[in-house]
Amino acid sequence: MEGRGFTIKLYPLKVSPTYVMAESASRANYHLGNLALMATDFAVCEAGVTRGILLDIAGVLYQGSAPLPGAAQAVSTLRDAGLPVRFLTNSTRRPKRVIHQKLKGFGIDAEADEILTPAAAACAWLRANGLVPHLLIHPDLEEDFATCPESGSVAVVVGDAGPYFNYERLNAAFRQIDKGAPFLALASNRKFLDADGELSLDAGAFVRALEYSSGKNAELFGKPSPTFFGSAAQSMGQALADLTMIGDDAESDVAGALKAGVGNAILVRSGKYQAGDEIRYDPKPSETVEGISEAVELVVSGQH
Ligand SMILES: [Mg+2]
Repeated sequence: MEGRGFTIKLYPLKVSPTYVMAESASRANYHLGNLALMATDFAVCEAGVTRGILLDIAGVLYQGSAPLPGAAQAVSTLRDAGLPVRFLTNSTRRPKRVIHQKLKGFGIDAEADEILTPAAAACAWLRANGLVPHLLIHPDLEEDFATCPESGSVAVVVGDAGPYFNYERLNAAFRQIDKGAPFLALASNRKFLDADGELSLDAGAFVRALEYSSGKNAELFGKPSPTFFGSAAQSMGQALADLTMIGDDAESDVAGALKAGVGNAILVRSGKYQAGDEIRYDPKPSETVEGISEAVELVVSGQH
């Protein structure tokens, strides 16, 4: 029976009036509880609850040639929750086209324009400044610079060239920088988890070598550049403070995001994570969890 804004239930005779009263009281409390919960949600929302997710890729969604457990479901859960997602990678050994294909191949719901790479950011900057890239990168990445200017002054671009780093190539880049060419670093990570399961030298060591010899600092285009995080936030129409970053690199992904103004950063113990990483860099992660599934659970449960 419907009353004025509330419901009166008719109970079978065997239910005692005391029970009905107790249940009514409990329901009243439940409804009050809901109101309190809504008020709490509202307060959290106003304080900057997560309105968008920044996901690192390697070591979070896949490792080498295999997806990490729960990755596809986790992204799908974020979609169901209505949260915009951007995939931010510092990987500079593969073009964006291949990264996208790989994600799709693992059943991970990702659109090409949701994937942000340092190469795309650097190429946009080179176009805006009318500069020709002098590339010290892996040959597979060259297609991401296809739309850059082909004549004019030069800017040096350094990525993770892997086995294509050698003295001649490093020295040619050094000479350009020494003569005044702008110096762009696609990433400055110290290490990455290699296909053989061991940590390997990342681009950072080579960027530092060129900085050391030239006496000039590189302009960083990948994480932890605040510009990189900022352009991701802008593309989502959200404030950095309302975003949560999820990554396996405590320095670039987590401390970098928090320093750039991202509201929360969750460190996952997958990929390149090593014991103790959660206390190695400042700022410390908002949370440290086993993997992408646990991180997304925290986000959708409203705890981040
Ligand atoms: Mg990673």
